[in-house]
Formats: sequence, structure tokens, C-alpha cells
Amino acid sequence: MTNAAQSLITQTDAAIAAAAVDAAPMPILIAPHAVLRRKTREVRPEDMAEIRRILPSMFSAMYEAPGIGLAAPQVGLGLRFALVDLGEKEAREPIIMINPEVIAESETLAAREEGCLSLPNQYAEVTRPEKVRVQWRSVDGELIEREVDDLMATCMQHEIDHLEGVLFVDHLSTLRRNMILRRLAKEQKQKR
Ligand SMILES: [Zn+2]
Repeated sequence: MTNAAQSLITQTDAAIAAAAVDAAPMPILIAPHAVLRRKTREVRPEDMAEIRRILPSMFSAMYEAPGIGLAAPQVGLGLRFALVDLGEKEAREPIIMINPEVIAESETLAAREEGCLSLPNQYAEVTRPEKVRVQWRSVDGELIEREVDDLMATCMQHEIDHLEGVLFVDHLSTLRRNMILRRLAKEQKQKR
């Protein structure tokens, strides 16, 4: 684990993520579900008890998939929070971001292949700012601000997009986006 990633993890996040082993995974919504397109509202202090209650089930869903990020709308919740974990199964690196915001971004861009648990089996190269400065609250209410790059930058931007009702395919050309969404719809239909 890198020092950068390590410094983002709080003991509370680690304890909540560890509880995922005993939690039933929440079902993940698949595009074009309407909830995925809705902008979420800010988390208020009075929401935190409920959020803490469901977090282990959200981690359980993300780890089972498996995925490296999961935003509240993907499990049907219209609240501004998301999870990220770039760690391995044997060395989890869970980060819970309450009310995250990108507050600065680099002019340099980076392209990386992205996928999404709400668009299973669909991948495309997405170009985004290479580095971003992100601010969020921990579950304990602490204000955290970090500059991230590489996969962490991609992942955090992808998750924060979800909180605005934006999917990774929205960064592609209309042609490419429609192609992916049609393919997804076809695959989902065949599964039923
Ligand atoms: Zn996603």
C-alpha cells in the first residue's frame, strides 16, 4: 500500500469496511435506471446514523462485484456520499467520502479505461484531469482534503460524477455512448 493511500484511511472507515463480511450486499442498480441520473442532495448530520447502518452492506456489494468504487445512487440512495477502495482483498484500503467535491483540477489530462458496476461489462477510455484536489467529510465529521493522481484521481472523479447523475459514458462522444448503452441494454435483456 502506498503512503498516500494509507494516509486517507481512517480507523472508522476500516472498521465499517471490515463489517462487510457479515453484511448482505445491497443490489446495484443498472443503467438506464432513473435514480442513476438524479443529482444527490448533501448529507446532513442527521443522515449519518442511517448511512452508518447501511455502509457495511454497500461495502459488501462493492467487494462482491468486485469494484473499486461505489456511489450512493448506485444502490438507490439520493445522498452525496461514495466509497472507494483500491486495495487488494488481503489488504483493503477503504475510504468513505461524505459530501465530496473536486475543488481543483490539473490542466494536464490523462486517459484511462473505465468501467462501472452500473454498466456491467462495458469499458471505454475516458479522458479526465490527471490530478485533482478533493475535499470531503469523514464519517466522524472531520474535513479531509487531498491531492490525488493516477487511478485514485480517476476513481474519485468517477464516483463524484455519480453524485451529479453523471456516468462515465457521458464523457464520450454521443455515438460511442449510444453504442455502449445499446450493447448494455441488449446484454441485460439476454440475461433476463
Ligand atoms: Zn460507476
